[in-house]
Amino acid sequence: MGPYLLGLRLSGRRVLVVGGGHVAQRRVPALLEAGAVITLVSPSVTPALDDLIAGGRVTWHARPYEVGDCDGAWLVQACTDDRAVNTAVAAEAEAKHIWCVRADDKEASAAWTPASGRVDEISVAVTAGGDPRRAAGIRDAVVGALRDGTVDARRSRTKPVGVALVGGGPGDPGLITVRGRQLLAQADVVVADRLAPRALLDELAPDVELIDAAKVPYGRSLAQNKINEILVDRARQGKFVVRLKGGDPFVFGRGGEEMIACARAGIPVLVVPGITSAVAVPSAAGVPVTHRGVSQEFHVVSVHVAPDDPASTVDWPAMARSQGTLVLLMAVERLAKVAEALLRDGRSPETPVMVVQDGTLPTQRTVVAPLSTVADRVSAAGIRPPAIVVVGDVVRVGQEVEMVRAERLP
Ligand code: SAH
Repeated sequence: MGPYLLGLRLSGRRVLVVGGGHVAQRRVPALLEAGAVITLVSPSVTPALDDLIAGGRVTWHARPYEVGDCDGAWLVQACTDDRAVNTAVAAEAEAKHIWCVRADDKEASAAWTPASGRVDEISVAVTAGGDPRRAAGIRDAVVGALRDGTVDARRSRTKPVGVALVGGGPGDPGLITVRGRQLLAQADVVVADRLAPRALLDELAPDVELIDAAKVPYGRSLAQNKINEILVDRARQGKFVVRLKGGDPFVFGRGGEEMIACARAGIPVLVVPGITSAVAVPSAAGVPVTHRGVSQEFHVVSVHVAPDDPASTVDWPAMARSQGTLVLLMAVERLAKVAEALLRDGRSPETPVMVVQDGTLPTQRTVVAPLSTVADRVSAAGIRPPAIVVVGDVVRVGQEVEMVRAERLP
């Protein structure tokens, strides 16, 4: 016979966990999240459980199980690796009409723990005839479908309001956050940047209004003002608007201006951080922006104006003197001037530089060259924006990894 599924509201209720090993370690966090008051009985515990005990979140009795431990509990988890102990715990619980879950024997267990997951206020719980792997697979499919909108989240839950400024990550559709993807699946209107992950836009339902911010027509007002107006206007119509941006919304993305424009218009704004290309593109290309013994710092600089441009506010001599990693955005077209400025104020001509175009995308291309020749190499290779430039010895760390990888290939 199949189980009868219930949602236990454990807040403030006592739960007994017998055993302090890996099974208990897996169960305890979810119980805590549901607000349970946990007593744990076990002669020893794993370090992760020990942390929870030290933090005062779990009460530990450091001894073997004794009859009477179940008293006062609403639920018992028998998680030891000793069958006889689990049997004794289950027998006591049964006699006292307390639900007991046994991890070691599904047939002997009065209750089963479903594979569960949450997407906002929706809880998903799956049992599959006592086969936990199968249940977990189905849970993953349902949770995934809710998150990416395959199960129409717009109809099946309360709709958010206002504007969400969502960081889309560097380009690979797998590198947006879970929250960002959930909100995208609920959007009525999506205003997308040129650098927002294109693949995610293809998944939008046909009735979602998609506005390409790069193509917003503007007359007397600046394009940015026009975009701000669109965000406010659509939100005022009661639509939920996702402003999808490349990387993180607040890294050279004018997200701050959009946030202020919405707030001033009385529109609720939510900011969802994104994985910035400044760190993710080097990372995905195998270059750590910091590395012990190589670089203790990294500087992220916008080079939308050249170092010798009066509009530049960057302290280039300081960048040249620093031994740290430089991560330069919007720099490809001005790379010769950047190299010149860095060389003039002290960076070695041998400093390795990596330039990555279309990082994390299938079209990714990389050029590595010393500072003295990198600008020529990049223009000869026809590297185009968007690209990230990484200056510093960390680039060599990445090269070593490439060698290791190549040597391992058959
Ligand atoms: N908010 C974005 C940056 C916007 S500025 C972020 O946090 O990533 C635009 C610049 O970002 C581009 O000119 C380029 O330098 C960099 N960039 C963004 N995505 C990139 C990618 N996939 N590959 C290489 N550079 C990228």
